[in-house]
Amino acid sequence: MMPETQVKPKRTPADRPFPWRCPRCLATDAVNIETIAYTAEIGHDGQVYHLEIPQFKVPRCQSCKELIVSHGADHQIRTALRSHLGLLTAEQIRVGREELGLSQEELASRLGIAPATFARWEEGGSIQPQSMDELLRSHFNSQAHSGSSSNFSSNDAP
Ligand SMILES: [Zn+2]
Repeated sequence: MMPETQVKPKRTPADRPFPWRCPRCLATDAVNIETIAYTAEIGHDGQVYHLEIPQFKVPRCQSCKELIVSHGADHQIRTALRSHLGLLTAEQIRVGREELGLSQEELASRLGIAPATFARWEEGGSIQPQSMDELLRSHFNSQAHSGSSSNFSSNDAP
């Protein structure tokens, strides 16, 4: 009678509250978030980067010391690479788009890319290439300079 809806596929293992059971040694309540210095290797724009992330937050089993590198870890690595390369963050992209008053689809079509690609940049799932970063900035900046004050002269009230 009530079919299962598939509207909320967003729940990932990373959302579970800590401590976790260790998937490796199976110790219960053994996995907690730890902050460590981490060196990550990540490919982007045809290059491989070695990144030092001094404040890397990662779940680790206190029993067997296994690191559990999750989706959240990938996200931290991408965020670190963005800042290393001086690219817009996922958050900056979202804010910039909202200031333009555009949907993800609308801005994607202005950029000439697939909406799914844009959505991944904005959600932090992948990183925009340098060329697209510049294009995004030029869109965001053009809006900033043609703000509300410039419409002041043509007074066309109904
Ligand atoms: Zn363990």
